[in-house]
Amino acid sequence: MGTGTQYPTRYLGDANPYRKKHVHDTANEKRSCTLHALEWARNAVPFDTLEQAYAAGYAPCLFCLPQEPGAD
Ligand SMILES: [Zn+2]
Repeated sequence: MGTGTQYPTRYLGDANPYRKKHVHDTANEKRSCTLHALEWARNAVPFDTLEQAYAAGYAPCLFCLPQEPGAD
């Protein structure tokens, strides 16, 4: 699955200041994710691990990280 887009890291945070800070798993991308809509060159923050994303204040995406505590 996925869009075929190549991402720089497995996890990408949404840095759009008008949305909640969510982190997405590019290895489990869903249609409902806003990941494909991220203009990631400008609005995505790459993370190698989820721990790094959480430490930076990001919450897990409900669609691609539903198993994570606090996903929404
Ligand atoms: Zn997602």
